[in-house]
Amino acid sequence: MGARVLAGASAAGALLTQASRRASSLSIRPHLVLIRAGTDPASLSYIRGKQRQAEITGLRTTVHALPESVTLPELLTLLATLNADSGVHGILVQLPLPPHLPVAPLHEAVDPRKDVDGFHPLNVGRLWSGTRAVDAPVLAPCTPLGVLALLRHHGIPVAGRRAVVVGRSDIVGRPMAAVLLGADATVTVVHRRSTDLAALTREADVLVVAAGQPWLITADMVRPGATVVDVGIHRISGEGQPVRLTGDVHPEVAGVAGALTPVPGGVGPLTVAQLMLNTVLAAERQVNWNVV
Ligand code: NAD
Repeated sequence: MGARVLAGASAAGALLTQASRRASSLSIRPHLVLIRAGTDPASLSYIRGKQRQAEITGLRTTVHALPESVTLPELLTLLATLNADSGVHGILVQLPLPPHLPVAPLHEAVDPRKDVDGFHPLNVGRLWSGTRAVDAPVLAPCTPLGVLALLRHHGIPVAGRRAVVVGRSDIVGRPMAAVLLGADATVTVVHRRSTDLAALTREADVLVVAAGQPWLITADMVRPGATVVDVGIHRISGEGQPVRLTGDVHPEVAGVAGALTPVPGGVGPLTVAQLMLNTVLAAERQVNWNVV
């Protein structure tokens, strides 16, 4: 029997309905500013997808498309202007950036109240703080929050279960571990330097894979009946073939896992939906509370 498919569309739909309802009850229209630099095709398509979804959800968007040659001081000046503009509620700097631009100073330059990606150190600290429950209004990275929403939507229990996260990036792996810990899982984080990856992944009741390595996880690395969340996205293009999307988890895992997210159509829609909800939360914080 194959694994249950944990599709993202219905879970994303529930988040978007919530975002739209909360946005319409505000006195202002939440305004999300998206910044991209250069011509990376993936960045371009992510920005377009986010902008389209924001408009459908009832949010206002502005895109700043900057040349590949944009400098760090120029970007910092733009961020300072957007931070000071009370008509802007959310700011997102699309990754990847051109290689000459360091990411950390840009994350630190976004006003924490407008940090809809949850990358500012203040928001990272809040996410890791035990005094803040996962459901408290913290601006946290969209993909990990989206994964938790997906698991909850499909009725997959997390509390008290063994969760293993493959990957420790600032964008997915680390915040994923914090989100799962906040949801009362027992969490292990494995990474490139971990030894005996298969023994560690086999311990998981819930395995979240964000390694950026196509088909890294094979059937022998998964405990029978486990829930497997595949965050990886890879564009595979053979000569004369259309581009196909695939993940970090080998398709054969469907024969062992109890439940599995598809690629595409699994985690991806949740990331965008959670961004909408984060933008509404940021706007609510600024309009109703005006606190950092
Ligand atoms: P990254 O390259 O920044 O981090 C990858 C992590 O995986 C690193 O911490 C590394 O130590 C670990 N890793 C790599 N090879 C490993 C191995 N063989 N064994 C154990 N650990 C290993 O990548 P990222 O930004 O975290 O993204 C991961 C994947 O998720 C990518 O494919 C990316 O495209 C995808 N992604 C998807 C979404 C979405 O919305 N679905 C969002 C963000 C990222």
